[in-house]
Amino acid sequence: MVLKIYNTLSGRKEPFEPLAPASVRMYVCGVTVYDECHLGHARSALVFDVIRRYLEHCGFSVTFVKNFTDVDDKIIHRANELGIPWQAVTARYIDAYYRDMGRLGIGRATVEPKATEHMADIIDLIQTLIRKGVAYRVNGDVYFQVEKFPAYGVLSKRKLEDMQAGARVEVDERKRHPMDFALWKAAKPGEPSWDSPWGPGRPGWHIECSAMSMKHLGETFDIHGGGADLIFPHHENEIAQSCAATDKEFVRYWVHNGFVQVNQEKMSKSLGNFFTIREVFEKWGYREPVTAEVLRYFFLSTHYRSPLDFSDQALQEAKRALDGCYDLFLRLEEAPSADGGGAARLSPALHALQHAFREAMDDDFNTPAALAGFQQFRSTVNQLLKTGLSREHRAQVRAAFRSLGWVLNLFQLEVKAWEFASRGEISAAERETSSPSLEDAEIERLIAERNEARKKKDFVRADEIRKSLAARRIILEDRPDGTTRWKR
Ligand SMILES: [Zn+2]
Repeated sequence: MVLKIYNTLSGRKEPFEPLAPASVRMYVCGVTVYDECHLGHARSALVFDVIRRYLEHCGFSVTFVKNFTDVDDKIIHRANELGIPWQAVTARYIDAYYRDMGRLGIGRATVEPKATEHMADIIDLIQTLIRKGVAYRVNGDVYFQVEKFPAYGVLSKRKLEDMQAGARVEVDERKRHPMDFALWKAAKPGEPSWDSPWGPGRPGWHIECSAMSMKHLGETFDIHGGGADLIFPHHENEIAQSCAATDKEFVRYWVHNGFVQVNQEKMSKSLGNFFTIREVFEKWGYREPVTAEVLRYFFLSTHYRSPLDFSDQALQEAKRALDGCYDLFLRLEEAPSADGGGAARLSPALHALQHAFREAMDDDFNTPAALAGFQQFRSTVNQLLKTGLSREHRAQVRAAFRSLGWVLNLFQLEVKAWEFASRGEISAAERETSSPSLEDAEIERLIAERNEARKKKDFVRADEIRKSLAARRIILEDRPDGTTRWKR
């Protein structure tokens, strides 16, 4: 099997062949640090984290670069709004970014460059573009001249003539073409600025990604990713700048993730359905490791290129799917050691899981199909456990969940950690729809009373308690060691 990746540039899935046989160089556009990260950022971060993990799982050594845009109009605007220095804004939101990504379980990139730390590289690149005659100066500004780059529009499949006709941009007398874009902006009073051959100013947004990606990954590299909203103009402009400067191919595979919607509406601040990552962790009442894993499962149950619909119901489905897996892990730990013939059927089931996982992930990182493979395996093992599995075979099942699950960053918790973090915590939506919920202490008291009744062989009373708890949606499970486990 060979890994295929959908390349936005060609509009089709292509076999993945990195420039160097055993290593992959990839760049992903990071966040502009002027506000808290929302679900859209979470999805993009998770998608590329999983892509990186899968490439590593396949044996590639991955150099992953993800930048911070730490100088931008929005940052300056926010600094003025808050009455604090712009550096305080970027420091605050870089901290918030690490906090949120840490909660989600998303690791750091190999290199996380900041625009403000690459001014010399940015200025060099702009000078090259001026020298090559594809950029021009107007007073203290520098613009890229799109008509000098015949392939302009190659990524977004737009034609320059159509863009001009459809452009509703303000007529800017200083530009030679309405689609020309700023590489360097002359400083305005009170704004951060750096010295340059064109006077003090700051870089445009697009040029920083060309400068930083090529600095850390070379003039041509394997994968460039980001949200689909970046295809035009950001990535189109990156291609124009980079290729015009080097006369080489810039990126082999362009990978873009889809949007996040909330209850089938576009997520936006004005609609009031806008969630930051922090808000989701606060609203969703489980403890952090469970919330994080539920979010990851939920995000990965939709293919990364499709729009993803966020809702309480979808999160609950993800939670249930994970509960089913952790329930299995508990049974694997507690099942009596026996081999009633299950072992003979385990080997084909393990093989089927590995095959399904590989096939799914090789098909443009089809995580929903990979998750379906896990669920199929779970239900097969549940059947096998009825006739019995040896300790060694049960360990093999858990190891398969762990090792393949590592790619998706799922199934890594200990059963006890999962139970602890799930216990007694329910979502706001569930709170609204369920009957008045029992306090944990009350449930524990009733369980103790039931166990006492069972000891005295008062099975009528024991059953009464079980039924009354069931009516309140509390499920009991008696363990071999005589204790009772419960869940909502
Ligand atoms: Zn970028």
